[in-house]
Amino acid sequence: MGERPHAFKAGHGNLSTWRGTTVTMPPSGHRGPRHPVNDEQALRDELLAQARRLGASGLSQGTSGNLSARHGDGFLVTPSGMPYDELRAEDLVRVDMQGRYEHRLRPSSEWRFHRDIYAARPDAAAVVHVHPPHATALAMCRMDIPAAHYMIAVGGGDSIRCAGYHTYGTQALSDAVLEALDGRLACLMANHGMLAVGSDLAQAMWRAVEVETLARHYALALQVGRPVLLTDGEVADVLATFANYGLMSPRS
Ligand code: 13P
Ligand code: ZN
Repeated sequence: MGERPHAFKAGHGNLSTWRGTTVTMPPSGHRGPRHPVNDEQALRDELLAQARRLGASGLSQGTSGNLSARHGDGFLVTPSGMPYDELRAEDLVRVDMQGRYEHRLRPSSEWRFHRDIYAARPDAAAVVHVHPPHATALAMCRMDIPAAHYMIAVGGGDSIRCAGYHTYGTQALSDAVLEALDGRLACLMANHGMLAVGSDLAQAMWRAVEVETLARHYALALQVGRPVLLTDGEVADVLATFANYGLMSPRS
């Protein structure tokens, strides 16, 4: 599967080079976060609202998964092991880029990959990690999702890779996730789940839902027959127009 620096070709998108791959994302002002990132209380409220959507969206249940949003020189993240329906805005933990926090609750055990994504990807302002059934089933088989449907573009390239397996919460897992995310906006995580990034929380959630839907379609197609893959040119055509699609496009 060829690597190409296509990602999203928003005419006014900001380019960033990351691990040798050029990634284009809409600039933060393109759609604009609903709240300025320096408004901590508004960001807490937004994180809480999105976290409470996780169950209904089918993306997560119980305490599995975690969400974060970039804030100042660090990020706000869900606390470890707390059911989303019990979560309050003040329970979200502010973590700095060294992993330090001052809170009565511990941050998500996965704070390392949240931190490492914000450090490596200036274009990422939100991270959603979840264990939804179909993406996780493919991840349990350690399969990538290939370009068998045009919505592969939601992940920013011609495949959604599956990161190698490492124990949850470890630096090794974070390293594997960053490798799988190279030039991409989402990845599967072997024997674990999936992850999506976004230029704000709503976009990261939208992407996570679309990746789970794509995983469901691909798993079903594998049952029906042999999925036919799009050509590189067909994928490139979709990627070229995708910057204006769905939550990638500006909110009017
Ligand atoms: P936390 O409750 O610590 O965020 O862990 C959930 C999870 O999904 C670990 O990968
Ligand atoms: Zn997890």
